[in-house]
Amino acid sequence: MKALVFEDRLFMEDNMPKPVPVQREALVKVKMAGICKTDLEIEKGYMGFKGIPGHEFVGVVEESKDGDQSLLGKRVVGEINCGCKVCNYCLQGLETHCPERTTLGIDGRDGCFAEYLTLPVANLIEVPEGITNEEAVFTEPLAAAFEIMNQVHIKPSDQVCVLGDGKLGLLIALALNLSQSELLLVGKYPVKLNIAEKQHIKTALLEDLSSKRQFDLVVEATGSVDGFELARKVVRPRGKVVLKSTIAGNKELNLTSLVLDEITMIGSRCGAFNPALKALERKMLNVKPLISGIYSLDKIIEAYEASKRKDALKVLIDFTL
Ligand SMILES: [Zn+2]
Ligand SMILES: [Zn+2]
Repeated sequence: MKALVFEDRLFMEDNMPKPVPVQREALVKVKMAGICKTDLEIEKGYMGFKGIPGHEFVGVVEESKDGDQSLLGKRVVGEINCGCKVCNYCLQGLETHCPERTTLGIDGRDGCFAEYLTLPVANLIEVPEGITNEEAVFTEPLAAAFEIMNQVHIKPSDQVCVLGDGKLGLLIALALNLSQSELLLVGKYPVKLNIAEKQHIKTALLEDLSSKRQFDLVVEATGSVDGFELARKVVRPRGKVVLKSTIAGNKELNLTSLVLDEITMIGSRCGAFNPALKALERKMLNVKPLISGIYSLDKIIEAYEASKRKDALKVLIDFTL
């Protein structure tokens, strides 16, 4: 099969062996995939990953090595963390924190930038008919956006600020907008902010953001090592900061103000897929304006380059092209 491989550099491989599902796994033929900031970080060495990258996909189940054959032939998306099933985290349904976990296209498991992938059947969820492939491919990052609502209680009276108008920042704003809080999305690009404005979200350019410490909750999704500093500046004393950027970088931090102002810091990663699929199915938000290009698998290196442009948002790979 054709696959994109990362081993010190990215290259296309036309004759990769098709993966073979083990017990309780399924073989999925990939239909569409999305390039994520994490994929670009992997290219810079994030997680020391080697193999086939990619973790945002929609595909069709071709084979199931599981007693449950109900997903055979069905269109699915897949949760990306695969736990050991026996540790304390896994037994509590927290496979995302299993110390033995592998993660699709990120850690110890080949990903979706290939014609086929394997995942445990338990990770797969059927995509409702009303959701297109272009929308379904947003399930994973949108689930990561909804995870914030699992971690923090957001009141309608809360002043909430999302920092970053990249793909994740926009998805977070769209998700948190459903909380009815006083939401402000802050970014650098009017074109990107406009996507949120069209969905009734207040926005501001970074240069116009007042440094008044007014926000009850600040979500840092800038994808930059400087985002943390900015979040700390605008969160009110006793407020909360949710960190969403996963960046291969180190930064020296002065933590004193967090102590003095009694700030709660919350790390936030992956979320459950069902809330995201529900929101997409009920058209509670529109992810389609975030698509800035669709490429074939053969042109995936070009697609990577396109997704690095400053004005780019989500670049998709259509496997039927
Ligand atoms: Zn991602
Ligand atoms: Zn486990």
